Amino acid sequence: MHHFQYKGNDLYCEDMAVEKIAKEVGTPFYLYSKETLEHHFKVFDKAFLDVPHITCYAVKANSNIAILDIFGSLGSGADIVSGGELFRALRAGMSPDRIVYSGVGKKIEEIDFALKSNILMFNIESSQELEVINQRTEKLGKKARISIRINPDVDPKTHPYISTGLKKSKFGIDIKKALNEYRRSRELKNIEVVGVDCHIGSQITEIGPFRDAVRKIREIVVTLASEGFAIKYLDLGGGLGIPYHVEEPPQPDEYARTIIEEVRGLGCTLILEPGRLLVGNAGILVTKVLYTKDGEEKSFVIVDAGMNDLIRPSIYGSFHFIQPVKKEERKNAMVDVVGPVCESGDFLASARQMPEARPGELLAVMSAGAYGFAMSSNYNSRPRVAEVLVQGDRYYIIRKRETFEDLIRLEEIQE
Ligand SMILES: *Cc1c(COP(=O)(O)O)cnc(C)c1O
Repeated sequence: MHHFQYKGNDLYCEDMAVEKIAKEVGTPFYLYSKETLEHHFKVFDKAFLDVPHITCYAVKANSNIAILDIFGSLGSGADIVSGGELFRALRAGMSPDRIVYSGVGKKIEEIDFALKSNILMFNIESSQELEVINQRTEKLGKKARISIRINPDVDPKTHPYISTGLKKSKFGIDIKKALNEYRRSRELKNIEVVGVDCHIGSQITEIGPFRDAVRKIREIVVTLASEGFAIKYLDLGGGLGIPYHVEEPPQPDEYARTIIEEVRGLGCTLILEPGRLLVGNAGILVTKVLYTKDGEEKSFVIVDAGMNDLIRPSIYGSFHFIQPVKKEERKNAMVDVVGPVCESGDFLASARQMPEARPGELLAVMSAGAYGFAMSSNYNSRPRVAEVLVQGDRYYIIRKRETFEDLIRLEEIQE
């Protein structure tokens, strides 16, 4: 469900014409619908209403503080993977006792920042990380609540780059070794074991892998309980997919039912870390056609947004629908939609049938709210684009377009 619809021939975001925003803020820009963001959070969170749970939005999917503020106001916590994300979550007013910290490479400064902020828990990804966190607690006179991220060796059947729970993956700790880590943690006096964690991947479109992972996690919780550990939190990560093209991922209520069924009787509070699901279809990237060009073998639509603005097609071969902001009677053409970046991998769509586009026209790259702006860069010295939030018939610039001055702000020519 989202609020990007045509009224007549014009694409709207809620009650705002996309074209009007483009005229005022220029292109390219990311455009988000507040109503959609709120709807997605509520649907997800409500699916778990019957059980104690915390929905911890995965900040990396879209980390704009205006978005964090929206979710925070609805009671969301945060799943963070860096000190920068912790800073954002706190700045957006999210409560530290609803923040969990994941990631294989937590630096000492980041660990200290999280300890001083009294976050809910660290999801431990290696034996050495546990050591270091324990050392830091002693240094700072703090306690650390932890869970261990288990690598359940489950194939999430998604793109290899976003599979995170397979044996060969860098994430988490192997099930057998994890039990030893739990036992070892008993000797670490400032470490309080509170949870078990896993996250098997992203853009998962089947329920099976989730069920398989929860079953394995369940076994560990039972084993730990028999050894006297009081496991309060079961963190099941994120990863539920969204429809970009023809996928039909499980709905949040089916996902929730499956999980609730599998954890019955454990008496734990669930932690869920949805990212893409909450923001993916709540955002689009609006871009302008600069030129069209017919090559020998291919036709190109050259637009003003490139791989530095939306890298998903380039690195994952992802599909995003591309729609005209103003519908016209046109015949279809087979084109590659490409950006201005000097890389052949710079495309938003390849071999795509779409209505013939003309210079000056606006296109909407759909489902771009997750891992869009957050993964953007300044490559080719392209200022990062503006982010705009629509609420009803009003819009707010939630991140200004960068300027050329911004590009060199931190640089210096040596004396
Ligand atoms: C990326 C990530 C998420 C969110 O994944 P989505 O597919 O966007 O839901 C949740 N938890 C962890 C640990 C992650 O790394």
